[in-house]
Amino acid sequence: MARLVMKFGGTSVADLDRIRNVARHVKREVDAGHDVAVVVSAMAGVTNQLVAWCREAAVLHDAREYDAVVATGEQVTAGLLAIVLEGMGVNARSWQGWQLPLLTDNAHGGARIVEVNGAELIRRFKELGQVAVIAGFQGLHKETNRVTTLGRGGSDTSAVALAAAIQAERCDIYTDVDGVYTTDPRVVPRARRLEKIAYEEMLELASLGAKVMQVRSVELGMLHNVPILVRSSFEKPEDIDPKKPPAGTLICDESEIMEQQTVTGIAFSKDEAQISIRRVQDKPGVAAAIFGPLADANINVDMIVQNVSADGLTTDLTFTVPSSDYERARATIEKAKSAIGFERIDGATDVAKVSVIGIGMRSHAGVAAKAFKALSERNINIRAITTSEIKFSVLIDAAYSELAVRTLHSLYGLDK
Ligand code: ASP
Ligand code: MG
Repeated sequence: MARLVMKFGGTSVADLDRIRNVARHVKREVDAGHDVAVVVSAMAGVTNQLVAWCREAAVLHDAREYDAVVATGEQVTAGLLAIVLEGMGVNARSWQGWQLPLLTDNAHGGARIVEVNGAELIRRFKELGQVAVIAGFQGLHKETNRVTTLGRGGSDTSAVALAAAIQAERCDIYTDVDGVYTTDPRVVPRARRLEKIAYEEMLELASLGAKVMQVRSVELGMLHNVPILVRSSFEKPEDIDPKKPPAGTLICDESEIMEQQTVTGIAFSKDEAQISIRRVQDKPGVAAAIFGPLADANINVDMIVQNVSADGLTTDLTFTVPSSDYERARATIEKAKSAIGFERIDGATDVAKVSVIGIGMRSHAGVAAKAFKALSERNINIRAITTSEIKFSVLIDAAYSELAVRTLHSLYGLDK
């Protein structure tokens, strides 16, 4: 008998039929003798609608009231699922964030979890055999007694935090895909589902545009060593053999992955823009003069490449920002021109970042060199390169991103 957290995203609870399907999944685990806490998202599209209403009400609105509005989506689903479970003869009750409580800081709209109290849930597992149905995404700021939300996609984070709080054996993330793939199967039909992936690799994949889970939920899983299973909610509950290990991708500690491949996956993102500052003065304080104002403007800078200058006077500096921030970033630099000192700004928005990820890179040399050769053979020009311990990224023309991803996917033996 195990204690499980089961989390269901928006498409998995999109209507009452889907909620009944979720209830059957829950009943399946209860019948197998497990203690179950369920975390639900709002029904598909509901949060978007709530956000839109807030904007319509007032473009600049109080973030505390925004949270009061957007937190409601999850409350509806939690109540409905509890009703359906009761109807199926499963003892269940719903919980809102403040009732547990799940305490957060007061960064409304993107609050961070401070503490989750799972004691009452555990008591009810033991004494009543009661399933807990918890509204994801929402919490409480204790000092001000206000409802908070954890940022878009935040119910993943609620689920993992709860799993840590009740010492669950596993946190199952039920979603509309059946696991984590070596790359996007829509781009590479031969992409494979991974059986296991290390937290660190998943963090890189998640923050690089593989939109399976909220990044913070993976961070939290790593911190508390919660095994997270990404699995499909579209699998029929009656088709699942309780004696077999469940199908999906397990996000776990790297020590639990026996056969480590050098490369685990390839991520890519087209939402990148490149900014190159030409003939920047080469003297102390210049990087600060550039990136300080960008940080103040809340612009997230990703790749940064600077050359060692030949003449000791000026150099070129290239970096990337999200394409939605491109114009703002250019304007910010332009405004700081006299403080920075440069000749001109060049830029491009039709660029893409392709990243190769694998903890095996720590112990293998030449992994990136292989890629550079393969890309050059396809005549793909590399604009910038960055590397870290377990990944490297190249910035290329967006038109070549699919070709690059496919090329690298085959190169590292990831094809099915
Ligand atoms: N409903 C929220 C959102 O759409 C939270 C979540 O689904 O994880 O962002
Ligand atoms: Mg989600």
